Parts: sequence; C-alpha cells; structure tokens
Amino acid sequence: MNRNNIIIPYIPIGDKKTEEVRGKKFEIWSTKQESTFLPFKNKDSPPYKLCNIAKNDPGVFSLFFLKYSVSDSAIEEFPLELKLPFFLDIDNEFVEAILNEKYAGEIKRWKTKIKKILDEYGELNARYTWDIIATIMADHKFKQKISRKGIKRMNKNEIYSLFAETASKYEEKIKKFFENLSNIIKRNYSTLEQYIPTIEAYESVKDAKINMETLSNIFSEQNIGNILSDSISKLIANRIIRMQHISICLECVLRKHLEPIYIEERYPGSPNFLTHCNKCNGKTIFHQVLLQIPDSLTPLVLENRIQEFMTGFLLADSEIMKKVYVHKKISKVEDSKRYPGVEVDIFAVTEDDKIVLVEVTKTDDLDDVGKNMSIKERNFKVLDYDYLFYVTGVSLEKYFRYGDTNAYILGTKHLPKLSEHIEYIMSK
Ligand SMILES: [Zn+2]
Repeated sequence: MNRNNIIIPYIPIGDKKTEEVRGKKFEIWSTKQESTFLPFKNKDSPPYKLCNIAKNDPGVFSLFFLKYSVSDSAIEEFPLELKLPFFLDIDNEFVEAILNEKYAGEIKRWKTKIKKILDEYGELNARYTWDIIATIMADHKFKQKISRKGIKRMNKNEIYSLFAETASKYEEKIKKFFENLSNIIKRNYSTLEQYIPTIEAYESVKDAKINMETLSNIFSEQNIGNILSDSISKLIANRIIRMQHISICLECVLRKHLEPIYIEERYPGSPNFLTHCNKCNGKTIFHQVLLQIPDSLTPLVLENRIQEFMTGFLLADSEIMKKVYVHKKISKVEDSKRYPGVEVDIFAVTEDDKIVLVEVTKTDDLDDVGKNMSIKERNFKVLDYDYLFYVTGVSLEKYFRYGDTNAYILGTKHLPKLSEHIEYIMSK
C-alpha cells in the first residue's frame, strides 16, 4: 500500500481538506504560520529530509528535545546556530561543587584577566587606527591632491584609493602597529585559549548536566556518544546541517590547575566525543555541539515547530494511521453547523476511524505541561477526539493518563518508540 500521502505537512493558504469520521465532517485549514511549512512541498528540502530521518533515528529526534541556545550565524546559507551543551559522564561531587559556585571566585578572576587583555587590545587598536589616519591626512601630497580635486567632488572609491596610495608610503610604520597588536594576543595566547572556552563551558554546566540526564533517560545504558555521533553524521551527510564541536576537560583546569585537554573539530564528517581525559584521568568532559541550520529550517527551529513535524512524520509511518495533519486549524461541521476552528499540533485519523490529537512541546517542566494540558483538553473538546497525547521534554519514568479522560502525557523516554507506545495505549 502506498503510504506516501498519509502525512499532510502543508496546505496552501485558503485551501482546505476534509475528513469524514463516523458521520462527522472535519475541515482542515492552513494556519498563519503556513508559509514557513512551504519547504515540506519538496521532498529534497532540509526540513522534509530531517523529519524523514528523525522518524527512524531516535538520536536525531532527541537532539531537538534537548536544551540549546539559538543565535544568528555569519553564514548566509546557514543563518541560525544552535549551541547544544552536554556531558557524557560526570564526577558528581565535582559538578555539584561547580553548581554550588565553589569555583565562582576563580572564574571571576579569569574574566577580569581576559577583560584586561581585550581592553588593552581594543585601546591600542583604536589609538593606532587614529594615528594612521592622522598620519595620512597630514601627508603633504595627500593634502595637495585633496585640495586640487576638492573633497566635496570625490566619491568614496576615490577617497579610498587616495588613502591606500598614501598609506603605502608608511608601510613600515603600519606593519609595526600590527606587530604590536598581534604581540598582545601572542603574549596572552595561552591565557585566552585556556580560559575563554573554560568560562563558556563553566557557564553552560547546568544545561549540559540536564541534557546528560535527558539523554540517559532516553537511551539508558547505550553508548550515547556513539548514538549522537552517528545521528549527527547522518544529518551532515544529507547536507541538512553543518556542525562544529568542542570538548574540554573541566577537571584539568578547575581541579588540577593543568592546561585543559581541549579539542575543537570544525566541520567533521563524523564527530568524535571524548569520554575520558588522558591527562588528568577525569571524566567530566564538557561537550558543545554547534549546529548550523539552513534557511528553510530556521523558522521551524526558532518557533519550536520542528518537533511537531518530526512527531507527525513518525506517526504517519504507523500502520494504524490513515491521515496525519501537522499544525493545522480544524473545524467540525455537524448538521450543517460549522464550529469555530481549533489549532492542533497534530490531527490524525486512524484506519478504524478514531480521532487522535497530539500536542508536542519540548518543555521539561511537568507543572507547565499539566496546566497546558487542561487548557488544551477544554479547547479540543469540540473536536470529539478519541485520544489526546502530550509528547513532552519531561524526563518521566512512565507515561501516565491525565485525569479521567483519554489524555496521556509522555516524556523523553518514550521518544524512541513513540508510535509503539501510542499504538499500545490505543489497543487497550
Ligand atoms: Zn583532564
């Protein structure tokens, strides 16, 4: 059977689809965000490829449920960067000490030291730059040419070439300036190289620990470093993302006062995550993956929608599903009355005519999930659903039924076999 048309990630604006379930009619409309789902029309687009890989790859799926920060990148084709910190193992006592600010004084001293170096660099740079400009402008020939041509009539390019031409006369002096500047960096290189990554790692320890706990909740005793490396390699090989990563041993610097083991991989085909420091024997190695995200994925990741689509693709693979709509507005039509539309993350109809709603959130706060759940339950009532599932970023040992309705909360542990869990619940 051709199951290709089960997933509906995109509906052109103004268009609608209809589903008939047990005599009731449902109209499915696009939402305000629909234009950002347009890449799903093309099976070769990064979002489509990502969801298609994620549905069979728990490592990829899980990545987007972890804690990461987002920022703009300087690369046009990959405008967004996700910084994802994690540990594969830790010395508990040591990490507790970090979180209890045992090393806060030391970190503060390093920051002061680095600020002093960078300030010195900045001041010298400014002083030299103005000095070069003043030297050029005071140059006799320069002044002559400017007054002959009249500066008001000169465009930017002409001024630039006149500057460059005059500057070449002072080449020695300029060279000396740059030498002095780079000497500041050279003189302080080991300080900068050692402390800047350590400070950055130190400030992400809490998130790295949470991510480690989430990952072990999902993958328990499996080799998590290998799982992540394989999953990320797949994304790189399919040209969905680009990545860089750093690993740094926190025990070297903070505990043993050694220069840390520090590894930086720029655009590897397959990242390698160190699990043990052979310098200090420590195991608290901080890893940070920097994922660069292409244009077509940027809004989906920024608005945390990609998790809905990955879940939708995964469910659409289940034999019991007939249709799976992701992030659409649904109106029930009954006895020629059209009820107001409700926005749902996933609206699915099964082969045996059941309505399944799924809400997806990467939040890890169970209280928030509970509050949200009761609001959603109320809003969704009009859709006469049979099951409501809440797929969350909470580390739960077991999924559970919410209240006395057919609503269930699932956690990160259930991500790898999500379809099986849902099929099992529905078969009871
Ligand atoms: Zn070490």
